[in-house]
Amino acid sequence: MFGEVLLHANASGEPGYSDLNSFRALLERDRLIEDLRQQLESKQREADEHLHRNKFLVRETRHLGEIVQNLNRKTAELEADRQEIQEKIRSLQSRQAPVSSARNSTASRPAIDPNRLRQASGLARELKVSAKQLRSWLFLTLSDLKNILTQTEDVLKKMVEAQRQADGEAQTLRSLYQKEVLERRTLYNKLLELQGNVRVFCRCRNVSRPGSSSCLDQYDQQEVTLIHKNTRKKFFFDKVYAPTSTQEEVFAGTLPLVTSCADGYNVCILAYGQTGSGKTFTMMGTKDKPGVNIRSIRELLRVCSLKEKVSYVLKISMLEIYNDTLNDLLAKNPTASSTLDIRVQGKFVSVPGLTHVEVRTEDDIINVMETGEKNRKMGATKMNIHSSRSHLLVALEVCGSDSLSGESTRGTLTLGDLAGSERISRTEAEGQRLVEAAAINKSLTALGQVFAALKCNALHVPFRNCKLTHLLQPSLSGDAKCCVFINVSPDSKDEVETLSTLQFGSSIRHVALGKATKNITPAKGNKTLK
Ligand code: ADP
Repeated sequence: MFGEVLLHANASGEPGYSDLNSFRALLERDRLIEDLRQQLESKQREADEHLHRNKFLVRETRHLGEIVQNLNRKTAELEADRQEIQEKIRSLQSRQAPVSSARNSTASRPAIDPNRLRQASGLARELKVSAKQLRSWLFLTLSDLKNILTQTEDVLKKMVEAQRQADGEAQTLRSLYQKEVLERRTLYNKLLELQGNVRVFCRCRNVSRPGSSSCLDQYDQQEVTLIHKNTRKKFFFDKVYAPTSTQEEVFAGTLPLVTSCADGYNVCILAYGQTGSGKTFTMMGTKDKPGVNIRSIRELLRVCSLKEKVSYVLKISMLEIYNDTLNDLLAKNPTASSTLDIRVQGKFVSVPGLTHVEVRTEDDIINVMETGEKNRKMGATKMNIHSSRSHLLVALEVCGSDSLSGESTRGTLTLGDLAGSERISRTEAEGQRLVEAAAINKSLTALGQVFAALKCNALHVPFRNCKLTHLLQPSLSGDAKCCVFINVSPDSKDEVETLSTLQFGSSIRHVALGKATKNITPAKGNKTLK
């Protein structure tokens, strides 16, 4: 769980994660939630069993009722038969009396066979006896059945009561579970908020030519020094990654943010810096050294698969912003013009018509990324541009629905490889290159203005000044957590650009996006979880 993730991050020396008590509280909460989840599951199993037995008993009661009715009918029929036979015996006896007196008086009349008469009266006696036996047997069977029926009804009543109780207990446990999950999230977010929900990481590349001088020095956990015009200037960040840092180490810094996407938070990771400073290496990486993009999506797939009671659907979209125009990189027919618009829908920003591809496995992620990259290269060659002159945004939508609490969550992880931030002078560029440079400059300036407005808590944040900030709005406002990689080059020729990038990074540190709230749709009929 995330408590453990945070504890591991702390154990690996991650700065800013030092509040061990909070980690322990998170771990404690994780355990409590697991406990509640198990209790809730066993209560639900009990309730299911009760329900099953109730259904069986109802069927049995109905069946027994039908038997009693049948027996009642049969008793009535037998009683009618018995009466009919008695009637017949009576009539035979009445006929026998005049016959015997007549025999005495007139010997000439034909006599009734005495054997037949004996037989008939014997039969009548037998019938009388068996009718009596049948009646007592029926009486006993009926009272037995009535007893069974009464007992079944009693058991049924008890079962219904037990089920009602189990339902009540399950409901209490469910709300306790929801409360714990909510409190755990609040605690986790407080922790992240305490650290500021815009994290700035500085990643320094190696010098281009081995042995050449470097303008960067003294890499520390949170500090780096720039030697500029013979003066040393220190810059502080949430974390500084020296040239020796591996892709795994860099990704580990973003891990707590990435995983919170599964809880319904919007998370955004951006790479900012001049061309050649290592943005694409950090975000996309190479085949054998994958970057943050593939690692974070892979991690989210893993985290989502661990949550047994929550079913997740993960969808990727990939788009490029070139000259303030959006291009769908996953469109089926990339040759067709796929310029897109941005629409605001409540608290989400959508791009109607943008292709979303569902991913389930690591292979899916790699395939989607390769398709996007291939389409990007194809488009760039056709338009004679370089990929560093456009912004690349990969968005992963994570939708979860909790079968226990009934909650559904929606979080988006936006991964941005921004266009090169280097300034191009008017003398260096003309025509298409000048238009591109102006568009990049405008969008990166707009991004800086958004961060500046957020930092001073301005009433108006100019998200709509360009497509980049407009698209990033949900990832840079109240719902979100953001991490910006400041990629810098240590080459002496890049000194001025490195200074400018470091200054940009310092300026956006400690920006608060507002109180983080998650995108959760409560279970139907549950108004407490908002
Ligand atoms: P950008 O995207 O900022 O233009 P790239 O990521 O393309 O820069 O990096 C330029 C070159 O430097 C690439 O060949 C890349 O593999 C290499 N590179 C960048 N950063 C690192 C790093 N930290 N370790 C190893 N190689 C790197």
